[in-house]
Amino acid sequence: MRYADLHTHTFHSDGTRSPAEVVDLAIDAGLGILSISDHDNLAAFHQIRDYAADRGLLLVVGTELSAEYRGIDIHLLAYAFDPHDQPMEERLARFRETRRTRGHRMVERLRELGHDILIERVEQLCGEGAMGRPHIARALMEIGAVDSFEEAFATLIGPGCPGWVAKERFTIQEVVDLVGRAGGVTSVAHPTLYPDHGEITAELLDLGIDAVEVFHPDVDAESSELYQALARERGKFVTGGSDDHGAAKSLKTIGTVRISEERIGPIVERLEARG
Ligand code: AMP
Ligand code: FE
Ligand code: FE
Ligand code: ZN
Repeated sequence: MRYADLHTHTFHSDGTRSPAEVVDLAIDAGLGILSISDHDNLAAFHQIRDYAADRGLLLVVGTELSAEYRGIDIHLLAYAFDPHDQPMEERLARFRETRRTRGHRMVERLRELGHDILIERVEQLCGEGAMGRPHIARALMEIGAVDSFEEAFATLIGPGCPGWVAKERFTIQEVVDLVGRAGGVTSVAHPTLYPDHGEITAELLDLGIDAVEVFHPDVDAESSELYQALARERGKFVTGGSDDHGAAKSLKTIGTVRISEERIGPIVERLEARG
């Protein structure tokens, strides 16, 4: 029986690890299946798929998308879609473009506030990936504007803070359609992080989301049982992962949360069908 960690990040989004490091750590942890679920981009997947295959690790194409539902920011994990699907690639590219524009606007605001943050450094930190507030937080730390990530989010770049600019978000329907048409499946990421999550998660499944992430560091045992029962009831399945971000969230480490292959049949079957 193989085990999977289906939720990890690299420096192509808000993690600090390289794709190769994530693959190596997954193998060291005894995992047979891994998904790198960077926000809004597949750069890590394309970069590391041959390396993972050579090392005998089944790499599941994945990404984590931000959607708005009832005014709440919902994270949806997408898996096992065709990694070369044109509409999917184009939509992700457009989304990254709006992230970049937003990053530039945030840096402008921060500079107006008197912080000597450089957009060039933020660009450098995010590379070819999805620009996000963690890159801005790191740049703010480097210039000594804040002492920690926490301080950056609490005082400058959190929602409503002077340096904050809202991010574009998908609708649930758009994610369901986009990923479905690309041959993939979707899962509600870390359900317990949303207000009224019992109600919301059930509604998301009814809107066409295929699974719930019932194994995650922020999902307690009781909620996990609850959501496993909900998924069963609705004819859906479950996913799980550590949400490793490397040093950016050091308590979430690859392999500490794992899910057995038999539970993620809809994902493995899609990969096998595509070859
Ligand atoms: P963005 O997608 O650009 O809005 O950035 C969101 C990311 O910032 C999340 O995925 C987290 O990794 C990170 N983040 C959000 N809030 C905090 C916080 N209070 N402290 C540290 N990191 C945070
Ligand atoms: Fe994240
Ligand atoms: Fe998330
Ligand atoms: Zn995540």
